[in-house]
This record gives sequence, C-alpha cells and structure tokens, in this order.
Amino acid sequence: MLWPFRFCPACGTPVHGEAGVAPLNCEACPERFFRPVSVGVAVVLIENRQMLLGRRRDGGWCIPCGYLEWGEEVASAARREFREETGLEVEIVGIRQVQSNFHRPEDLSVGIWFDGRRLSGELQAGDDLVAVQFFDCWEIPEILFPTDRRVIDEWIRSVDSIT
Ligand SMILES: [Zn+2]
Repeated sequence: MLWPFRFCPACGTPVHGEAGVAPLNCEACPERFFRPVSVGVAVVLIENRQMLLGRRRDGGWCIPCGYLEWGEEVASAARREFREETGLEVEIVGIRQVQSNFHRPEDLSVGIWFDGRRLSGELQAGDDLVAVQFFDCWEIPEILFPTDRRVIDEWIRSVDSIT
C-alpha cells in the first residue's frame, strides 16, 4: 500500500492524522488506516555446531530470510523462503527469536527467527543469495542486519556456555 495517502480508499474523503505514527482517520466514514508493517521470516539451521548463512547479491551475509506473503502461514513462509534460498527442505522445530527490525526506516518489519531441521534437498544458493555456507561460531563473517547479529550473538553465548 502506498503510504501515506490523502484520501480515504473506502469513500474518497480526505483523511487526517499523523501519517506513519498514528492511524489515518477518514473525515466521513469510521475507517481508520494503520500503516502496514511487514513480517520477515528466517530459518536458523545449525548442524555440527555450525550455522548456515547466506551471502546476498549486495555482498552482506545474513540468516536466510524473506517476507511473508499475503494469506501465507508464517512457518510455511519460512520453509518456502529457506527452500528458495538454500535448496533445502526443513521442518520448523521451534521459535528462536522475535524482534522488531528498524534498519530500514521506510520498511519496518517484525522478524521471526525459526529453528529448522533439515529434511532433504541439496545445498545450493538461490533467489536473493549468491552463496550459502556453514560457519563455526568463531568465523562468522560481517553480518548485514543488526537483528541477525543479535540472534547469532545469542547462539555464540549458548555454544560458549556448553563447552
Ligand atoms: Zn471514508
């Protein structure tokens, strides 16, 4: 949805409100419009104490992720994005973290990091990724998103605490 808009999509009357902060209110009908927030989904796959990361076209590394599509269930979206980007079919076995992403001010999102377990497939970068690779916790490359970094830091602390 283009945001902010000046006229009510329901009746065409001008809307008022502090766009992007509060909902926009229609002056004629009871409609209120909230700026949509995207939902990002990521899958953390750890095997042999290594985490799978992907390198994006822009050069940064991240935990394989993507956006929820309209009508899609969140865990299904996570499995789909992971399959598209890594070639691997996973089952979702838990939720590792939920965070608000503020690194793209024009596209705010809520991210859900799921834990996955590999079922099948052959590891191969696809979609937005040009490389996929497992990393030990001491050789993690430069990470693009600060929220991914927090997920990784927490994983590193948990590895440290059991060794
Ligand atoms: Zn209206």
